[in-house]
Amino acid sequence: MRKQVIAGNWKMNKTHTEAEDFIQATKNEVPSPDEVESVVCAPFPFLQKLVEETKGTSLEIAAQNMHFEENGAFTGEVSPVMLNELGVTYVVLGHSERREIFKETDEDINKKVHAAFNHNLTPIVCVGESLEQREADQTMDHVEAQVKKALDGLTDEQAAKVIIAYEPIWAIGTGRTATSEQANEVCTHIRRVVIDFYGSDVAEAVRIQYGGSVKPANVDELLSQSDIDGALVGGASLEAASFLKLVEAG
Ligand code: 13P
Repeated sequence: MRKQVIAGNWKMNKTHTEAEDFIQATKNEVPSPDEVESVVCAPFPFLQKLVEETKGTSLEIAAQNMHFEENGAFTGEVSPVMLNELGVTYVVLGHSERREIFKETDEDINKKVHAAFNHNLTPIVCVGESLEQREADQTMDHVEAQVKKALDGLTDEQAAKVIIAYEPIWAIGTGRTATSEQANEVCTHIRRVVIDFYGSDVAEAVRIQYGGSVKPANVDELLSQSDIDGALVGGASLEAASFLKLVEAG
């Protein structure tokens, strides 16, 4: 039985005080990690403080991105070594906003996935099609290619620990959620791709989240699907009460 992972992706939102208030309101309220993994993906400047404040609680802190190199002349970047040293446990990689706005490639993302494992970080790897790709019936091929490239070269042990977030771009921040059937269909396809690549034991262990306009009102229906093992949530994760409802659904 796979454990659900509910992750709130704050993106570039919140002041330091707002981040603090959120953590104080949620850190002792989230369910036990035996039931569900509860994760907040916070902006870099808040990570150190939030990791300290959540020590000994069931709330985990994630980064939203990182570079694949350990150090060097990469002005403005943050390395996996730095994140690991802070005590961050998960890192979101290849979010569609990173791919689209910051031109990250599948090759970059694959290097980042390897770097995450080399530094004890669990990668949450995002994949998903655009509206044009869905309308042109290219969803499965596109997502399959993204998954294959992102996971290329991992050991079985590493691959089993990857979290994949299926986030159709047309459903992100639009209020237009994929139906639970649409979401599950793609998540099932992703698991088949992992079977082809790494075999069924690994594929049975891999957690696949859905993301895109998830909110308390639709989370139960999405999480009840056979191949959906959690959610990656933007807008509805910004309010403490809403985030708590989401993790309680997990
Ligand atoms: P929304 O939940 O705001 O649609 O964002 C989804 C997302 O991009 C999470 O990473």
